[in-house]
Amino acid sequence: MSPQEKTALILVDIQNDFLEQGSLAVAESNGILDKVNELITKVKSNHGLVIATQDWHPSNHISFASNHTDKQVFETKDIEYEGVQVTQMMWPDHCVQGSFGAEISKTIDLDQVDFIVQKGLNRHVDSYSAFADNNYSEITPLAKILHRQLVDKVIIVGLALDYCVKYTCLDAIKFGFKTILVVECTKPVDKEQFHATLEHLKSKGVTIQQSWL
Ligand SMILES: [Zn+2]
Repeated sequence: MSPQEKTALILVDIQNDFLEQGSLAVAESNGILDKVNELITKVKSNHGLVIATQDWHPSNHISFASNHTDKQVFETKDIEYEGVQVTQMMWPDHCVQGSFGAEISKTIDLDQVDFIVQKGLNRHVDSYSAFADNNYSEITPLAKILHRQLVDKVIIVGLALDYCVKYTCLDAIKFGFKTILVVECTKPVDKEQFHATLEHLKSKGVTIQQSWL
């Protein structure tokens, strides 16, 4: 890292419900934790910023299959919000505000985290990206925090690669940040989507790095 470049490490949704044993557990997700902690130490020692994102849903959230009588978990449903039609994945209940599952994993030292950005608070629309909801009807404070802190480069890690990490990377590019994804610090919901997701992100300008040197 050159001294004039300010870097932020974005820890996407490293929450109990997405880790092994969680209600929406991502396979082998606990395996990223040591690497993520090493990365936090490296970024901090270079005076970078660390931001954790937190999926934070009301219990009546539209993405929960339990809130739809006509759908099962992992089916999709076409939903309209503010005139925009989206295909919504039906997820198990997860990251309900105030629950253990919504807590950021205790393996992450929160003393090293400068900001926590919550997303998914609006029950009517899901929010995979940490920058905005899936309809871009509202943006989160993330872009403002990064601009105010004069960040020009973001390193993105966390869960899950094919959903929240992917859309956070794509929005980071749209918001003008140099964007790096560290592959050893993320895992997908659907293993079949692993390579396709990396190729897609690369085609949109995301730098894909196996590890952080
Ligand atoms: Zn969610």
